[in-house]
This record gives sequence, structure tokens and C-alpha cells, in this order.
Amino acid sequence: MSRTFLEPAREIPVLTEADVVVCGGGPGGFSAAIAAARHGARTVLIERYGFLGGLATAGLVAPILGHTASQSHTPIVEGLLRELTERMHALGGAPAWEEACLEWGIRFDAEALKIVLDELCAEAGVELWLHTWLADALVEDGRIVAAVVENKSGRGAVAGRVFVDATGDADLAVRAGAPTTHGRPFDGRPESMGSFFHLAGFAPEVWDREEELHELVRREMEKGRFRFYNPGFLARNAYHLDHTSANMTRFSGNSDDARDMTAAEVYLRRQVWDLVRFLKGNVPGFEDCYVQQTSQAGPRESRQIVGPYALTGEDVRLGHKFEDAVARGSWWIDIHCPLGHTYPVHLCVAECPKGADCPFWASEHGRMYSRSQLYPPCGDWYDIPYRSLLSVAIPNLLASGRCISATHEGMAGSRVMGTCVAIGQAAGTAAALAARRDAAPREVDVQELRRLLREDGALV
Ligand SMILES: Cc1cc2nc3c(=O)[nH]c(=O)nc-3n(C[C@H](O)[C@H](O)[C@H](O)COP(=O)(O)OP(=O)(O)OC[C@H]3O[C@@H](n4cnc5c(N)ncnc54)[C@H](O)[C@@H]3O)c2cc1C
Repeated sequence: MSRTFLEPAREIPVLTEADVVVCGGGPGGFSAAIAAARHGARTVLIERYGFLGGLATAGLVAPILGHTASQSHTPIVEGLLRELTERMHALGGAPAWEEACLEWGIRFDAEALKIVLDELCAEAGVELWLHTWLADALVEDGRIVAAVVENKSGRGAVAGRVFVDATGDADLAVRAGAPTTHGRPFDGRPESMGSFFHLAGFAPEVWDREEELHELVRREMEKGRFRFYNPGFLARNAYHLDHTSANMTRFSGNSDDARDMTAAEVYLRRQVWDLVRFLKGNVPGFEDCYVQQTSQAGPRESRQIVGPYALTGEDVRLGHKFEDAVARGSWWIDIHCPLGHTYPVHLCVAECPKGADCPFWASEHGRMYSRSQLYPPCGDWYDIPYRSLLSVAIPNLLASGRCISATHEGMAGSRVMGTCVAIGQAAGTAAALAARRDAAPREVDVQELRRLLREDGALV
């Protein structure tokens, strides 16, 4: 056993008390907190950064996907997502909703999202605890009674009745002792991480020769200089045309391991700076190019809570519907190779240097799909069942966002931000209902929940 210390027990103050405590302020968390507060629950939102948005802001991830049916322009998520888009549009930070529905994702400005979220939380009456890290959970008689947090003031407890885990990595569930799964079933490896970066200072004409540019980068990849997954994403930011917003780096590792996260940050930044050095020295029009900003290392997948139902790849592919549907998704089984070798992963038979040595290939051999078979039917969607938000072990715990109960393939579809906002609206509304009745979330009348969601503009 490696060396250990025994941390002495200590008494900690109760910092605040709430009906609903939401941990994590990303797309799955801010939506849950706003919905819970709007339904009358005294709601606390705990977030480790100084702003809300999660990967939508700190990760510079854009656009928001999953707002329309598969390969179509029919909206499948409205409610809070539409409201956010309209608020950002009013600030000049997103297209109008109708225009956004004609595009494959909702383009937006991360700074506009930050301020809109501050305002929506304040208007709903959410008690916000920024710069506050969820460190532990206190469990009594099988129920969570408090989230233990750390911040500059020290350690303290946030007591509550219903808890929503929207940390992306199911931190609260794990600290409370609830079972979780991790990555692929046969080796536990999650999808590879990635990052976004904004480059500026290039000549506008560089995009007239975009294919040439991608070919140059691709050639450097073949020589082993870069390990990008898709040089085709080196393009202008879709919202502000003066910089790029490229989503092309990748790192194979676990986001619930601080050593891997440290290595990911250092490696991903290095790749961006190597690219800038290459562009400045070799590509006309990029001589004055500079790094405007880089995002945090972005995890795509880590832990999922274990609920009474796990959303599967077949649910995604076949557009399954459920009686207890509380949200809709339309994104496909979009797996970024956990080993960081190839993209999309189902092409690994043809493209992966590991070939038949790849454990994914070995386990999937005989049922490999073509890319088109990984999408829900055209114009259709799959439902997210309420059971996927529940924990089999902790009655007063709900999950929201990318850490809901789902298989490796299922979460590869449901993890996108439009779907996470819809899930969050459902989780927050359910949490408020449960708190009001002093009931466990699993006792909530799902048809009443669905009615409330519809009244609030959600499409269920
Ligand atoms: C490289 C990359 C590209 C992507 N591309 C797209 C795309 O183009 N479109 C799209 O829609 N989606 C995309 N996604 C997926 C999407 O961004 C995420 O799946 C989505 O943001 C998940 O939302 P979430 O709220 O569950 O988690 P997150 O966005 O990760 O938010 C979790 C929040 O919890 C906070 N938190 C975590 N742990 C703690 C703790 N212990 N204490 C306090 N706070 C904590 C974090 O700071 C964060 O704010 C991409 C993801 C990556 C990594």
C-alpha cells in the first residue's frame, strides 16, 4: 500500500441550507438550478470556477448541438435552451432562435453566455457559490444530508434535501458511495479528451485556401508532428469571424485523475503552440497569427451514475421513445477513440494503426456499423428516460448532464450541450417537486413532471 496519513475528524460549519443543492454549473447544472428555483425550491448552486457554463465557457466548446431532430431543422429541445439563446441573441451573442434551428448547432459567444447565466440565476433566486469545490458528501441512513465544500474560507457543509450531481464526472455520487461506471465496459477507458483554441491575427484571405491549409497540417500529422483528430476543424469561429475556434486536439486519459488532467493541460497547450509556430513559419497569411486563448482540457466522458435504466447506443441509433421521457436527444454515437488513435472510432478497422490489436475492434468485430447507422433515423430523436437520472443506491440523488446513467455508446450521443440543458431542466424540476412533497425523486409522478416541463416550454 502506498504511504497514507490519517486525516483527523473535525467539526465543520453549515454554510447554508437548501431544498435543492446542485453541484456543478455546466449545461447540466445551471439549467437544473434555474428550473428548481423557478419551481419554488430554495436552491444552491456550487461551482469550482468563478463563472457558470462548464465546458460551454471554460471549455470554449461551441456550437450547442442536439437542439434539432437528427439531420433536420425541427427543434426537439426548447424551454430553457431557447430562452438562453434568445437572451444571448439580445446581447449580440447568438443568432435568433429561428435562425439557429436552420443550422447544425447554436453558435454563441461564451462571454454572452456567462452574463446571461448570472442574470438568469439571480432572477430565479438561485444562491450561487462560485470558487467553491465539492469535496465530499455526508450520508446518513443512506441519504445525502450535506455536500462538503472547500473554498478560500475553508471547509463547510451545504445541507439539503435533494441533491443534483452535475459535476460531469459524478463526483458527488462517488463521494456519497453510489455506484458508477467508467468508460468502455471491457477496459474502462473513456473517450479521449480535447480542447478548443482561438487563434487571431491571420489575413482574412487564408480561408480562401482552406483545403490547402488543412492538407499542409495533415501532412505534418503524417510525419508525427501533430496528433490532431481532424485538421478540417481549423477554420474561422462561426460567431466572431476574426478568430478561429478549432476543436482538433486530443489526449487519451481519465478526467477523474488529477495526474492525467495535469498531463492533458500541458500536452494540449503545447500542441496549440506547435501549430502556431508551424503556421507562422510556413503558411502565407499566418505570419502575425497569435494564440488569443486556449480552453481547459475538456473531458468527453468519465463516470456515469448507475440508475434503474442506462441509455444505450441502440436507443440512440433507433430513436427509442420511453413513457417516462423527460428530455430529447438527437446527436449520434460520436465516440472519440479512447486511445486517441482515430476518429470516428467505428472507422478504426480501416484507419487505426492498432488494427485488430485494438480491444474496441476486438469486442465490436462482427457488429461494426457504418457512420450513417450511428445516427438516429433522419428527422427523429431518442428520449432520455427519467430513470436514467436516478441513482439505484441514493434515493435523494439525481444526475444531470453528461454523467447520467448511460452506456459508453449511449452517452456518446446524449453528452452534447443542447441535450444536457434539456436534461438539467428536467432534473431541476423533478428535484423541486420531490423537495416540495418531502419525497424521494424516484417517487415523483413522472406524468406530472412531464406536464410541468411542457408548461415551461420543454419539448417532451
Ligand atoms: C473537446 C470537446 C468538444 C466538444 N464539442 C461539443 C460541441 O461541439 N457541441 C456540444 O454541444 N457539445 C460538445 N462537447 C460536449 C459538451 O461540451 C459536454 O458534454 C457538456 O458540456 C457536458 O455538460 P455538463 O454540465 O454535464 O458538464 P460540464 O460542462 O463538464 O460542466 C461540469 C461543471 O461542474 C463543475 N465541477 C466539476 N467538478 C466539480 C467539483 N468537484 N466541485 C465544483 N464544481 C465542479 C465544472 O467546473 C463545470 O462547470 C464537447 C466536449 C469536449 C470535451
